[in-house]
This record gives sequence, C-alpha cells and structure tokens, in this order.
Amino acid sequence: MIRDLEDEILGCTRCSRLIDYIRKVAIEKKPKYRNYQYWGKPLPGFGDPNAWLLIVGLAPAAHGGNRTGRVFTGDMSGERVYRALYEIGLSSSPKSESRYDLVELKGVYLTNAVKCAPPKNKPNKEEIGSCSYFLKKEIESLPKLKVILTLGRIAFDTTTNILGIDGKFSHMAIYSTNRLTVVASYHPSQQNFVSGRLTWGNWISIFYKIKTLYTSHNA
Ligand code: SF4
Repeated sequence: MIRDLEDEILGCTRCSRLIDYIRKVAIEKKPKYRNYQYWGKPLPGFGDPNAWLLIVGLAPAAHGGNRTGRVFTGDMSGERVYRALYEIGLSSSPKSESRYDLVELKGVYLTNAVKCAPPKNKPNKEEIGSCSYFLKKEIESLPKLKVILTLGRIAFDTTTNILGIDGKFSHMAIYSTNRLTVVASYHPSQQNFVSGRLTWGNWISIFYKIKTLYTSHNA
C-alpha cells in the first residue's frame, strides 16, 4: 500500500549527508520564511492511490518541499506542475501552497527520485541508488499505473533503470514496457524556463500528450 510506504519513507535515515542537510535547513531557514515551521524530514509522495499517472521529479527543494511538507509545493517548478495538472483536469486546484490545504489530485501521484532535499539540488550516485528502493516500491504500489512522466535526466535514468528499459534521455522521448509508458521531459525549473528550453506551450503540450497515451492504453 502506498500509504504504508509513505510511513517507511518518513522514518528513513539511510543517507546521513542528506538527513543532516534537511535538518540544518529546517533550523536555519531562509529569512523570508523565518516564521514557517519547516518540514525538515524525508518527503513522501502525494496524490491518488489509484493513480494512472506518476510524475517523478529530482528531489524536494530545500525551501520548497522540505519547507512545506508536500512534494512540488513551495517553489516555481511545483507551481508549473499543479497548474498543468489543473488544466488537464487532474488537480482540484491550480495551486498547492501547503500540506494543510485541500488540494485533491485525481488519477495522479507525485514523487521524487530522491526523497530528501540535497545540497545544491545535487544528490550523489549512492544517494540516488539508495532512494531508488522507494521509487521502485511506489511504482509497484500503484495498481492502476499506466504512465510515468519523468522530469529531468536523473528522474528518467532512475525510472528506466528500475523498469529495465534501455533508454536515452531526450525531451519527449517515450518508452514502453508491457505495463507502463515512460515519458521524458525537461524539468520545469526556473532555469529551463528562463533559458527558453521550456515554454508554457511546450510544457503543457506534454500533459495533453500524456492524456492521449492514457486513452490509447484504455482503448
Ligand atoms: S534520500 Fe531516500 S534513501 Fe536517502 S535518507 Fe532520504 S529517504 Fe532515505
């Protein structure tokens, strides 16, 4: 069950460098969030246990998910994810602001390849390898899963390794197994939007493409 897995993730202390870092960030805080009670723990996924779509990011942001306690919540990348999900009808709201708000996801579950925020957004190989245990379990724990959208190269490589897919990351690449379709996208980071690598138009088009894939899975 995905809910049991969330409890297991919360108790994990396997990567001491990351655990030390997320606790330190939660104590020191960003000045503008000094009155905010940071999460400061490994961050489980969020969404519908009957999801047909799984979205895999890299890792929580130190002052985003590691602050708010919900994946893709509290930073610009996350805002783009929820807005896109709302536009295709999979989120009850275009915004997720804290783990206490009432946002509901329908048919989608959100997670990261690495569940603890890493310094400079860069987990090392061992940390990615250790945490892939949880991503594998998440994939196995979503019985209705059909499509996985991976955001960025690390999410893509980790997911395809788990599934035994011999794939190469490129934006909009699509690979399939008997059970699942994996779609690769650039990460919706501020850097990718400022550089023009991603625009709102080509970002949202991925979500419409995914809806089409789901329909074809069920045809
Ligand atoms: S990154 Fe994953 S494996 Fe490492 S401590 Fe956090 S939850 Fe555990």
